[in-house]
Amino acid sequence: TSDLTGQRVLVTAAAQGIGRATAQAFARAGARVLATDINAPGLAGLDGCETARLDVLDAECVAEVCARAGAVDVLFNAAGVVHSGTVLDCSEAELDFAYDLNVKSMVRMVQAVLPGMLERKSGTILNVSSVASSVQGVPNRFVYSTTKAAVLGLTKAIAADHVAQGIRCNAICPGTVQSPSLDDRLAAGGDYEAARAAFVARQPMGRIAAPEEIADLAVYLAGATFTTGQACCIDGGWTL
Ligand code: NAD
Repeated sequence: TSDLTGQRVLVTAAAQGIGRATAQAFARAGARVLATDINAPGLAGLDGCETARLDVLDAECVAEVCARAGAVDVLFNAAGVVHSGTVLDCSEAELDFAYDLNVKSMVRMVQAVLPGMLERKSGTILNVSSVASSVQGVPNRFVYSTTKAAVLGLTKAIAADHVAQGIRCNAICPGTVQSPSLDDRLAAGGDYEAARAAFVARQPMGRIAAPEEIADLAVYLAGATFTTGQACCIDGGWTL
């Protein structure tokens, strides 16, 4: 894995799941991590990380926390929400909320840290998308896939605009990953075990990812100096 000694890393949604595992992995790689989440108490116990409450829906809060963070070398945008349902199930309010949390929050974060990266001619942005996006059509994930496809679009656009200025921007597209919200989704239908078995069955490796496996890819990409504008799938063979 990459040696990120002394690099400043800002992680959103770090209280649990992929964001939490990634904050820890960056800290283990030597980075100075600022781990943030709307759920500030959930940030307790993150070894070797500074923590701050950050609601990525709140532009003022984003500006204030990013200003306090100082020079950010690596931005890890993890905040996101999963909606279930088809195009016919989706309300305008759900679509607006998902766009705000899954897409516009990433734009807000990038707008806050990119000017400093450009001044230093160096910076890496990592956005958590999903294989449920423009990569793979997944049933019952209309709003989610629509917004996660937008994450790939914004990732490539940022990469293209700033490739000659020392900035790299990549997206991570996980398959199914163990997390508290995954357990909530599996329980929501009433039969947790059956839902879990169905999710496992669509992963050819026959298991769900651990968040630490996604975190390892994030640390690698932070140091992958010839990689930009990519949608990096990590999905147990779902899209092979
Ligand atoms: P999770 O859904 O269990 O946790 C999400 C975290 O986001 C929570 O700590 C929550 O407090 C935080 N959060 C919610 N609203 C916020 C806000 N307004 N501001 C700041 N933080 C906020 O974690 P997860 O399942 O690992 O998901 C993390 C990311 O990975 C999401 O973008 C998700 O779409 C993506 N993803 C997850 C999976 C999976 O199977 N778990 C697969 C592909 C992609």
